Amino acid sequence: MTDLNLEGIGMTSRRTRDRLIARLREQGIKDETVLDVVRDTPRHIFIDEALAHRAYEDTALPIGYNQTISQPYSVARMTELLLAAGPLTSVLEVGTGSGYQTSVLAQLVGNVFSVERIKPLQDKARKRLQLLKLHNAQLMHTDGGMGWPSKAPFEGIMVTAAPEEVPAELMNQLAINGRLIIPVGGRSQELKLIIRTSEDSFTTEVVEGAKFVPLLSGTVR
Ligand code: SAH
Repeated sequence: MTDLNLEGIGMTSRRTRDRLIARLREQGIKDETVLDVVRDTPRHIFIDEALAHRAYEDTALPIGYNQTISQPYSVARMTELLLAAGPLTSVLEVGTGSGYQTSVLAQLVGNVFSVERIKPLQDKARKRLQLLKLHNAQLMHTDGGMGWPSKAPFEGIMVTAAPEEVPAELMNQLAINGRLIIPVGGRSQELKLIIRTSEDSFTTEVVEGAKFVPLLSGTVR
């Protein structure tokens, strides 16, 4: 694994992390519990050693396979939105990637079910979750556009890659009063918050602009 020093030194130190938290606050993140978890999650172990010194910059960074670890602002914002109506026992994440967002969620909700289409990324994410002893996160290698039917319904669903349209299957797997946070679009994307208000009705709110890698179909071994 990249860096077994969870505390961090130099560019991964507590002071560097505090600067990131100050920046997230300036950008409007208000949930102190979310800010605490972002501060305490060692983002430097989720990226290659060569980039670890940039771990606490508020930017997405490459993780291989043409994918990126999400920007801390996006992670904090989407987590805050997901949790805004109260505690959640069961959350689906689509797009495990590095496992960073998964780790943040696992510290805040009962159980996280996270799916990823690229097997080598999932394998690395699994090791990081083990290292952090986050045993309430389960991973599956699959095309997440189909969700995780056997674990549904979910009180929260977070999608960290952008489809052109919201996959109907994800809406189906939302519990009543469940919240789906999803970036939608191509070159220009919108972050949407969809709430299932009854068996067959949903409300949709456009939160802000977004910039995520595309949600792709199929799997990679
Ligand atoms: N949450 C991640 C973000 C990773 S980028 C993190 O914090 O690091 C988005 C991820 O979504 C990529 O790893 C990509 O492979 C994955 N992805 C894209 N389409 C997918 C799909 N249909 N099913 C599952 N994962 C998908």
